[in-house]
Amino acid sequence: MQTTFIPIPPDSHFSIQNLPYGVFSPREGGEPRIGVAVGDVVLDMRVFHDLALFDDDLLNNSNAFNEPTLNSFMALGRDKWRAARSAIKQQLQPGSFLDNESMRQLAFFRQADVIMHLPVAIGDYTDFYSSREHATNVGTMFRAAENALMPNWLHLPVGYHGRASSVVISGTPIARPHGQTVRGDSTTPEFGTSRLMDFELEMGFLIGPGNEFGRPVSVKEAWNHIFGLVLVNDWSARDIQKWEYQPLGPFNAKNFATSISPWVVTLEALEPFLVNGPQQDPEPLPYLRGKSNRTYNIALEVQLQSTQMTEPHTICRSNFKYLYWNMCQQLAHHTITGCNLRPGDLLASGTISGPTPDAYGSMLELTWRGTKPIDLPDGTTRKFLADGDTVIMTGYAQGDGYRVGFGEVTGQIQPAVSLTI
Ligand code: MN
Repeated sequence: MQTTFIPIPPDSHFSIQNLPYGVFSPREGGEPRIGVAVGDVVLDMRVFHDLALFDDDLLNNSNAFNEPTLNSFMALGRDKWRAARSAIKQQLQPGSFLDNESMRQLAFFRQADVIMHLPVAIGDYTDFYSSREHATNVGTMFRAAENALMPNWLHLPVGYHGRASSVVISGTPIARPHGQTVRGDSTTPEFGTSRLMDFELEMGFLIGPGNEFGRPVSVKEAWNHIFGLVLVNDWSARDIQKWEYQPLGPFNAKNFATSISPWVVTLEALEPFLVNGPQQDPEPLPYLRGKSNRTYNIALEVQLQSTQMTEPHTICRSNFKYLYWNMCQQLAHHTITGCNLRPGDLLASGTISGPTPDAYGSMLELTWRGTKPIDLPDGTTRKFLADGDTVIMTGYAQGDGYRVGFGEVTGQIQPAVSLTI
């Protein structure tokens, strides 16, 4: 049994077993700095470092905790992450150096009193397409059930290079984008605002130590390059996507915004929730073959709230474990050419859909391309997202009497900006 002097209800996402990292600044003013969430407070890691509370000289002397992003800490690697986690855990126990009134004043903030920032400087963002259910649903809608999965899909984790500059922190408003679209089977485009705004329920992992240019990372070594995970909403304009996506994949349909949750949950915290992913058949090529298809049991939920609703309404329940390709396979495939990853790079899963219709991770699938509108408690219906709609994604792993959770990633759709053309 692990104890702490911080009161933590059993349904809190931020148990003593979690200890996710983020970057915050006090609402009353002050520089962005690294923090750790526990219960409903944040431990200020700059103070922790100034007090030299690590049992590790390198950590006590490192500049990593004086920076406004996690990148330098993430680059230190798993041994140092473990050392930091163990020192933080120790200091949160009753009777520790931090367990007194003056230290509570100095080292802790209420989460309600802080502003969260992007936890990392993201140099590159890659988005995969690793849910078999999602790829099958989309393939069925856009082609036909017989050739829903492309011939490559079961042999490699399909992905594309996304846009890092427009990855934003949870809570950032999202303006409806403009673009080219076509109606029906027309091949004459019109210009205007997207009419088919969508979300994609995803999770993403952040790279710790990178790999040298020209040096692939093996599937067995991949773990040591993954620092932790966040929730990802990969906003998508389906009408723009339909017209532009062939032959090189999505461009404007995805490049306007991707939202992430503020707290990075480490692989150490997720270890008790390892499970086997789906059986892979055909067997992947040797460079994609791990000991087994290990992934995590993380319950995921999407909620929608219109401006007329007083509380959010759940429209999807899915799970990270449904993904066909796991993170190590994605990372090994990404680098097999020699492509170098750098600390802070974001690799997202692709939409995480499950086997049943209530587990579909996008409006496109939930409403089956608009043919089955969703009823909302305010009496309105949705085929896709309306201006003013807020999308809230949450996720957690359930332990015995505790949770390792991700908090939320939220975003509200705003009317399109006015253009001067
Ligand atoms: Mn996506």
